[in-house]
Amino acid sequence: MRPIQMVDLKAQYEKIKEEVNAAVLEVLDSAAFINGKPVQAFSEQLAAYLHVKHVIPCANGTDALQIAMMALDLQPGDEVITPSFTYIATTEVVALLRLKPVFVEVDPKTFCMDVEALKKAITPKTKAIVPVHLYGHAANMEAIMAVAQEHNLFVIEDNAQAIGGAFTFSDGTTKKNGTIGHIGCTSFFPSKNLGGYGDGGAIFTNDDTLAEKLRMIANHGQKVRYYHEVVGCNSRLDTIQAAILQIKLRELDNYINARRSAADYYDKVFANHPKITTPYRAPYSHHVFHQYTLILEGVDRDALHQHLAAKQIPSMIYYPVPGHRQNMFASFGLTQVEMPITDWLTERVISLPMHTELTEEQLQYITTQVLEFVNR
Ligand SMILES: *Cc1c(COP(=O)(O)O)cnc(C)c1O
Repeated sequence: MRPIQMVDLKAQYEKIKEEVNAAVLEVLDSAAFINGKPVQAFSEQLAAYLHVKHVIPCANGTDALQIAMMALDLQPGDEVITPSFTYIATTEVVALLRLKPVFVEVDPKTFCMDVEALKKAITPKTKAIVPVHLYGHAANMEAIMAVAQEHNLFVIEDNAQAIGGAFTFSDGTTKKNGTIGHIGCTSFFPSKNLGGYGDGGAIFTNDDTLAEKLRMIANHGQKVRYYHEVVGCNSRLDTIQAAILQIKLRELDNYINARRSAADYYDKVFANHPKITTPYRAPYSHHVFHQYTLILEGVDRDALHQHLAAKQIPSMIYYPVPGHRQNMFASFGLTQVEMPITDWLTERVISLPMHTELTEEQLQYITTQVLEFVNR
């Protein structure tokens, strides 16, 4: 059996190797390393795939979030509501821009922003909401957009973990994750569902005015070269990464199907286990399983992690320290807030290997070892 990895990028690469190598060599031959043709081509192809008007490529997912927030003309001290139960990038950029992160709880079933908690967190200073489609499950965007509309707030979707996933509204219409809020952000970090072979990111919007501003901010605040209208930053997607991402975008739906099949296998084996809660799939969310994350009760989670490691099975805790317990937010007064649901989840979640190349043999071995420990 092939060694089990959290994410097996090498096995995935083997299947597209010739195409990728040729595309990379073509970029080297062209010497157009910055803003070469593949950057524009990939952005257009991604826009078509997502059915969104504008895709603005940038250097990574953290920059995407930062640029999105810079485009909203917020003032220091303005409040931005985000979950605490997310990767640090979501909340860090809020603090970096001297805005005030306001943490809300997640729904313990979906791991995404709790809409009732969101409503309670709104104050006259609230300006934006940043829902995160964590682990590949969509946040309840229909409810979140309704709240945003009522209070005249911006919504920036952190779609780093759920690209290709979709949200179904109560009228039956469907939109791709990241294209529902005013702005969507994603990351092409190698291990993401659409990952390059280095860093990369993108910003999505259907709003022409916002698109122009986002493009300008990502490019030193200039529309015309050397004429800088606003303070921006330098955030670009490499031509080489764009060339690779063009190939991987064509495979994205196959990759998602492979992840969903692996999740189905796990689900079946763990179904109705008294100590294991398998990932919930809300009817509105087409889950793309960036992670396959269990909630354990009455199990020594860290001992299970050790047990699996001893059997050459990697597992991960996403994330071991939630935002409201990070020292970086102490000066914002955020380490004092109480988030019992987030703390409860943090102590009980464990993510199992999840990627596009998992074999039935590997899945059988992983699930057998998990049950062997949990049933002790
Ligand atoms: C990966 C990730 C990011 C940041 O992306 P980078 O490309 O690593 O900067 C932001 N938010 C979430 C939820 C992520 O998973």
